[in-house]
Amino acid sequence: MEPIAVYVHIPFCPTKCGYCDFNSYAMSGDIMERTVQATIQEIQRSPLRGRPAKTIFFGGGTPTYLDESQLIRVFQAVLEAHPADATTEITSEANPGTVDIPKFKAMHEAGFNRISLGAQSFLDTDLLALGRVHRSGEIERAVNAARDAGFKNINLDLMFALPDQSIHGWRQNLTRALAIHPEHLSLYCLTIEQNTAFYKQNLKGMLNLPDDEQQVMMYDECIERCAEAGYEQYEISNFAQHGLECKHNICYWNAEEYAGYGPGAVGSFETNLARIRYTNLKHPDRYCDAVETDKPIAFESEALSKESLRTEQIMLGLRMNTGLATEGLQFSQKSLSRLLDLNWIYLDDETIRLTKEGRHFCSEVALELI
Ligand code: SF4
Repeated sequence: MEPIAVYVHIPFCPTKCGYCDFNSYAMSGDIMERTVQATIQEIQRSPLRGRPAKTIFFGGGTPTYLDESQLIRVFQAVLEAHPADATTEITSEANPGTVDIPKFKAMHEAGFNRISLGAQSFLDTDLLALGRVHRSGEIERAVNAARDAGFKNINLDLMFALPDQSIHGWRQNLTRALAIHPEHLSLYCLTIEQNTAFYKQNLKGMLNLPDDEQQVMMYDECIERCAEAGYEQYEISNFAQHGLECKHNICYWNAEEYAGYGPGAVGSFETNLARIRYTNLKHPDRYCDAVETDKPIAFESEALSKESLRTEQIMLGLRMNTGLATEGLQFSQKSLSRLLDLNWIYLDDETIRLTKEGRHFCSEVALELI
């Protein structure tokens, strides 16, 4: 059977961050155990069961907000359904403040081999403004705890263009992050999404956000500082030590198949007739009700049209530094000429790649090509 990437969504967090539009809920108590049991049942009944795991990724929410026995029970259900071997990349997202050495040790012994830590900033003023529950000192403590537990592959997530952030503040963040020597860095520009507390505050003019020019400077700083420190940029926002790119995310960017389990998880797989994409019920209560009463767990399931697949392939493929493979894709000559004139793309017989300038305009390039 063909291997498949596996994603498990754990939708709980201690509090809801002001900028967060992920499917996450500040809930605790019985619903967490109920969701663990429902997720295990979903995995056990999956039509994708039996396909070996190409990669496994626990995201959220905050997977490490579960206690270790809950997390490991779900993980063991994944392994029973999707066998893994010693080479399988197995990641859990974790937030500083929800982890300690015993939890990391239990996870490592169970088979997790990669931790993605939601650091976001090393400045307490930023963390307070973002609504994060951890403080800066907890990031280094969490990294040390993960190292002590045996993890040799750690990612740090950081965000730039935060409210009141200066270029100096962002440089300080990069310095602190690089001093830790994580194997991987994900450096994202804050975007203000609808249905978040930040969106409402921004409408009222309460957020002092860096302007476009400052954002470009901050992004360029990511590229320069990471390159100086020996990291290879392999995607718009992702940098890794050689050979330690996130294999799971590469599956997404290559528009490969993936199984998704848990509330709000998305999955995408081939059948004889079409590529199917489904999205599970988002709210933990509704998701558990559906699993427990054997009703459909997905609230959306569609066969993707050729146009949707092409759109997805272009939008995701452009993000990778290796570029968008053009085999089987047709583009208007006028669009290609325009993008070349703007110096936003490189074009050869097999790929379209963004230039350094073009990386600031990935969405615009994708729309032009679509
Ligand atoms: S920790 Fe992450 S998932 Fe949870 S509320 Fe904050 S941003 Fe959202």
